Amino acid sequence: MTNMKDNDLLHRFLFENTDVRGNAVHLSDTIQQALQHTDYPPVLHKALSELMAAAALLTATVKLDQGTLSFQIQGQGPLNLLVVECNAALRMRATAKWQGDLHGLGFKDLIGNGHFAITLDPRDGGQTYQGIVEVIGDNIAQILETYMQQSAQLETRIWLSSNPHQAAGLLLQKLPQQQTEDQDSWQRTTMLADTVQADELLQLDTNTLLRRLFHEENVRLFDPSPVAFECRCSHQSVSNMLRLLGREEIDSIIQEQGSISVNCDFCNAAYVFDPIDASQLFVNEMPNSSSKSLH
Ligand SMILES: [Zn+2]
Repeated sequence: MTNMKDNDLLHRFLFENTDVRGNAVHLSDTIQQALQHTDYPPVLHKALSELMAAAALLTATVKLDQGTLSFQIQGQGPLNLLVVECNAALRMRATAKWQGDLHGLGFKDLIGNGHFAITLDPRDGGQTYQGIVEVIGDNIAQILETYMQQSAQLETRIWLSSNPHQAAGLLLQKLPQQQTEDQDSWQRTTMLADTVQADELLQLDTNTLLRRLFHEENVRLFDPSPVAFECRCSHQSVSNMLRLLGREEIDSIIQEQGSISVNCDFCNAAYVFDPIDASQLFVNEMPNSSSKSLH
C-alpha cells in the first residue's frame, strides 16, 4: 500500500495552545524526477531522497522569500559530495559524486571523515548563513540530529523514512519565547512522535498520521503546499561559469576539442558551445572599460 493522497505535498500544522509547530512531507515524483538522471547506488538514492524530505521540512520553517536552503555533505571516503537544494517555493534538486563500487557499504563507510553543511542563501543580497558540523551517525536522520543539537537556534526534531520510490518526513519545532500554560508540550509531543514507525510515516496520509500519533492533542492542520523537482540551470548560468575559466582556457579547449560540452550535475541537461558560441562569451567584455566613471 502506498499513500497517493499526499504525494509531493508539504503540510504545516500546529498544536493549539502550545509553543510547538510542525511540518510533514511526502515525496514521490519529486524524488523520481530529481534522481532519474543518474544511476545512483541504493545507499546514495536513500540518502538523497531522505535529505530531500528533510530539506522540504526545514525550508518550510525559515523565511527565505526568493532564497535557497542547501544541504551539502563532503566526505573523504568513496562519497565525495552530496548536495540537495530547496527554494522557498519548495522546488528542489539533488546530486552526488562518488567513486568506485559502493556495494555493501554503509553510509558512514561512504563518508569517512566528513562534514555536513546547511546554507541559507537569501539571494536578495542579504546575508548568507552557513552552519557546518562533523558528520556523526550512520544515516541522514542521525546526521541532522547532531546538526540540530550543535547549531540550530530553535529546538527541532526530524523523523525520516524512505523506500526506493518515496520518502517522508515529520518535523517538530519549539517556538521561542512563547508563554503558554502548557509547559511540557514539547516533551510530550516529541515523545509521541518518537513512537512513529517507518512505514506509518511513509504510508499514512498526514491527517491520519497526526491523529494516530497525537490523538489527545488539538492539532490544527493547514492546507498543503506542493513540492516538485526543478533545476534552475540555463544557458546563461553555464555561460557565467565558463566565463570564470577565462578566455585563454576557453580558446584552448575549443582548439583541442572543437567545442565545449557541459552537462548539468543536477539534471544532466547538455549545453554545447561551438566556436561561435564560445567567442560570444566574452563579447561584452570591454578591453578598455570606459563605463566605470558614469557618475
Ligand atoms: Zn540542470
